[in-house]
Amino acid sequence: STVERDVEVVNKSMVVENGKVVEKVEVTEVTKEFHTGREFVVNWIKPFGIIFINALKLIAVPLIIASLLKGISDLKDLSRLSSMGGRTIALYLFTTGVAVTLGLFIATIIGPGKGIDADTRDALIAAASSDAAGKIDIANEQKGKGPLQPLIDLVPENLFAAAGDNRAMLQVIVFVLFFGIGLLLVPPAVSKPVKDFFDSLNEIILKLIDLIMLAAPVGVFALLAALVAETPSLQVFYALLMYCLCVIAGLVLLIFAFYPSLMMIFTRRGYGWFFRGLSPAQLLAFSTSSSAATLPVTMERVEEHLGVDEEVASFVLPIGATVNMDGTSCYQAVAAVFICQAFGVDLSIGQLISIGLTCMLASIGTAAVPSAGIVMLVIVLGQISPTLVPGIALIFAVDRILDMLRTVVNITSDATVSMLVAKSVGKLGEPHEKTWDEYYHHK
Ligand code: ASP
Repeated sequence: STVERDVEVVNKSMVVENGKVVEKVEVTEVTKEFHTGREFVVNWIKPFGIIFINALKLIAVPLIIASLLKGISDLKDLSRLSSMGGRTIALYLFTTGVAVTLGLFIATIIGPGKGIDADTRDALIAAASSDAAGKIDIANEQKGKGPLQPLIDLVPENLFAAAGDNRAMLQVIVFVLFFGIGLLLVPPAVSKPVKDFFDSLNEIILKLIDLIMLAAPVGVFALLAALVAETPSLQVFYALLMYCLCVIAGLVLLIFAFYPSLMMIFTRRGYGWFFRGLSPAQLLAFSTSSSAATLPVTMERVEEHLGVDEEVASFVLPIGATVNMDGTSCYQAVAAVFICQAFGVDLSIGQLISIGLTCMLASIGTAAVPSAGIVMLVIVLGQISPTLVPGIALIFAVDRILDMLRTVVNITSDATVSMLVAKSVGKLGEPHEKTWDEYYHHK
């Protein structure tokens, strides 16, 4: 029987070759120990990774609905502060657009996922996927569609079908934005119960994410073990390193070049002065990975050290902490392109643009708490193709450090925009540090 066992089927998978789905059966000579160890990982460890990924997918749709609606309904005072509101939103969209473009650009030029050869790639797809039978031919899917198809795809004909299809996330987002506009237009008495409902829902879902993240060490371990067992190559780890460097390059450019330049051009303040004023908030963002948790410190620094009037800061910064996540959007763009490259998907310009738009929307919908950005990445990937979603396993292990860095970018962007808005409405004064006496009497 040992002789019979010398040659065995080690891998049976469905792969995409020349635009066709074919069954690939790998027959090879393997030593018995190797075979057994691998089978053990696949049968007994990998499932926990799949459960973890499924839980993330499960929470993504409710998360996006609740957190986006909350973000939109918090804009309620837009009518009161319409001039400031318009500028704030425009600047937030502008900076997010720049961040996404930068991310797409860096990832496409450097191509961190490109060095992976075909064999490793097939193994990667098989390892990442929970059901090989569900493979979808990505290239074929894009064929036969006109140039305006992405636009048509934005509008769902059936909300429930859209919510049930991970690829149709953009449609859900469009509906939620539309619904949010309706919510802002009806009288407060009508919108209040709905708003309260979604506020509570949002909080519950954030709690659920906390709970799921408790399982992250086990889930990530299982996913990586499966990846290592099924991917016979070090290329993947090299690719992962390149991916991290790409994300970091994008974030560093934003923090040290883009925001200070914007700030210096429009407010004529100094480079060092800006960082001296803001650095305690940046440090806190780095250590907490949460823009929401950092918000009080960001406000204090911006008001007391960067000279932004309280009225402007208290309007611009809370909205920014909720919707303006440049670091997150840049990271999501790099991550999405990287996973596509690792899985051998060639992206056309049209697809890159649609990834960019999805990243912008996904970052707006990202909650200002640790790890929220990678949960929303499920949506970005699902929008390209559901086959790619398990690719998240690839980048999970390195996400914590990237989360810390992107949060610093997120709050730096908020602070910069608050200065620009303050300048434009004539409310950027000389920084004034309150004395202890003033604090004491005002609070
Ligand atoms: N942690 C980030 C933030 O709070 C969000 C993210 O995960 O990208 O800003």
